[in-house]
Parts: sequence; structure tokens; C-alpha cells
Amino acid sequence: MTDQSITLENRPMGQAVLRGFQCKCPNCGSGPLLKGYLTLREECTVCRQDLTPARADDGPAYLTILLVGHILAPLLHVFFTTFRPEPMVMASLFGVLAVGLSLFLLPRLKGVVVAIQWARYMHGFGRSG
Ligand SMILES: [Zn+2]
Repeated sequence: MTDQSITLENRPMGQAVLRGFQCKCPNCGSGPLLKGYLTLREECTVCRQDLTPARADDGPAYLTILLVGHILAPLLHVFFTTFRPEPMVMASLFGVLAVGLSLFLLPRLKGVVVAIQWARYMHGFGRSG
């Protein structure tokens, strides 16, 4: 599959973001996007989409912090006002929740960032080849 006649319509953003969140190639949706936990593959193993133009940098980490904070902060308030648990229970529970949710979201948000870049032809994703 080549990118000889690419247009914006060929790369729907919603589909690409969904595939990215599933850590799948934004082009075909079947090949794995990452090898290991966070390392981006150089190309898709199924459709040979070149993934080297991706520049996720710190974006996924910022998005992870933003989401985890906005999910857990209100939950922390509601949990405390409702149950009034011991401080160590609160610290233990929300510490585990924050780490777990961050580890879950980080690779998925990296997939989303790469998928957005792919869908909008950023950083060389528009070049055929
Ligand atoms: Zn692919």
C-alpha cells in the first residue's frame, strides 16, 4: 500500500485516533504500533507504513498527567468526603490508582499522538515512499 494519491479524506482522524489508542498502526489498524512498552516501531509489520516521521516527544506524558489528574482529583474528593478513610488508606489507594492509570494510559496516548500526526501528514508522514 503506497501513499501515491493521498488526501485528507484518505486519513479520517477519528478512525486513526481510535487505532492509535489501541496501539495499532493508524494506517491499517492491524499492525502493532509499539514494540515493548513505549518504543515506536520503524514501520508497520502489516502494511509497511513508515513510522519514523512520528515526533511524539513529551506529548503523551503531558496528556497522561492531564487525564490522570482530572480523573483522580474529583474522585479523591468524593471518596474522602463520603468514606472519611484513614490517611494511609487514602495514600495507598490513590497512589496505586495514579500509577496504574498512568501506566495504562501512557502507551495508548502515545499511539493517539502518533495517529494524529499521521492523519494530518505532520513531520513527513505525507511523503510518499
Ligand atoms: Zn499498518
